[in-house]
Amino acid sequence: MNQKNFQTSLIHAPRKAPQYIDTVQPPLFRASTIIFKDTNALFNRHWTDEYDYSYGTHGTPTTFTLGDNIAQIEGGKYCLLAPSGLSAINLVNSCFLRHGDEVWVADNIYGPNMEHLRNLETRYGIIVKVYNPIDADTFQPSQNTKLIWLEAAGSVTLEFPDLINLVKKAKEKNILTALDNTWGAGLAFNAFDFSNEHLSVDISVHALTKYPSGGGDILMGSVVTQNPKLHHELFRMHAIQGIAISGDDAAQVQRSLASMQIRYQHQAQTALKILTWLKTQDIFAQVLHPADSDNISHQYWKETCQTEQSAGLVSVIFKPEYDIQAIRKFCDHLQLFKLGFSWGGPVSLVMLYQLNQMRQLKHSHLQNGILVRFCIGLEDAEDLIQDIQYALNSLI
Ligand SMILES: *Cc1c(COP(=O)(O)O)cnc(C)c1O
Repeated sequence: MNQKNFQTSLIHAPRKAPQYIDTVQPPLFRASTIIFKDTNALFNRHWTDEYDYSYGTHGTPTTFTLGDNIAQIEGGKYCLLAPSGLSAINLVNSCFLRHGDEVWVADNIYGPNMEHLRNLETRYGIIVKVYNPIDADTFQPSQNTKLIWLEAAGSVTLEFPDLINLVKKAKEKNILTALDNTWGAGLAFNAFDFSNEHLSVDISVHALTKYPSGGGDILMGSVVTQNPKLHHELFRMHAIQGIAISGDDAAQVQRSLASMQIRYQHQAQTALKILTWLKTQDIFAQVLHPADSDNISHQYWKETCQTEQSAGLVSVIFKPEYDIQAIRKFCDHLQLFKLGFSWGGPVSLVMLYQLNQMRQLKHSHLQNGILVRFCIGLEDAEDLIQDIQYALNSLI
């Protein structure tokens, strides 16, 4: 072709795809358009196949690489990525629930999942039932039960569910099992092969926003499965709903995976040190952590999780004489712990919850009082304990 005009040459500048170059991190592709080599490639595209590059929403080598890594970490085979943990949850609900279907959720389920399901209930006639995660007898499926949501452990009151019996009960009735695996992150236990009986959930959803990102700055979610049929259904729904993530975000999360286990273990160990200290303070009616041998769900944690694998969350319930004003004062006096949602990042976070407004069932194991959740970051344990001590002093 002839010499191009300047404006055209800016766009069609010479570029060369590398034949071979090796780097520590995989290359980053940013794409909406993916350029077909010729019409043959265009007409032979298979966007419903996994590794077909046809358009940005269907994936690039960057997003597929991250998905493969997440699937591997969690012990599954296939992975779909979504722009947040909640949108990954939504993908599962909208893929498998139809009018008249019943879905069971644990009473301590991630709040926005419950809200999402209640919305489906009013709009689309899906029936939402609530069970107590530490009492498998309260899960009473009917003919119409399609799906059960599990969460191990629940992210505020931190009960570890009777995962073994709940999953067994669901399998007997051919009910799909979906686990919100954010707390375990694929590290505390293998959701696709746990207990001596090699049990497996069908679907694992993970807020990659937490430990995989590890930075407190990226939002992302994943849906991992082992069964190709389930994956295919999810894959189609993912595609037709236009769920897509940015290549830049995928590359950021990919980069953090190498340190994820080390961060997780460090935060888990710091949380255990803080737990031990919190238990010596008599201002609290209860300290909640599933690895604590006094915890009501300790046995369930122990039969499922690897030793010491217990994430970086610990909650306390203040004695009832400490009202909301006192708890706000406590939170406002913390200096290292920042007030904010989420967890898994470098900075320790604190959040307060009024439990009586959050639960639908009665839970005799939870004391009255305001709950404060500590999400442990990467700071030193002693400094964090001092920070809590200082803020507690403001109440005396
Ligand atoms: C944070 C979180 C989610 C949602 O993730 P986002 O990326 O914030 O939407 C889902 N489940 C649990 C248990 C979480 O902690």
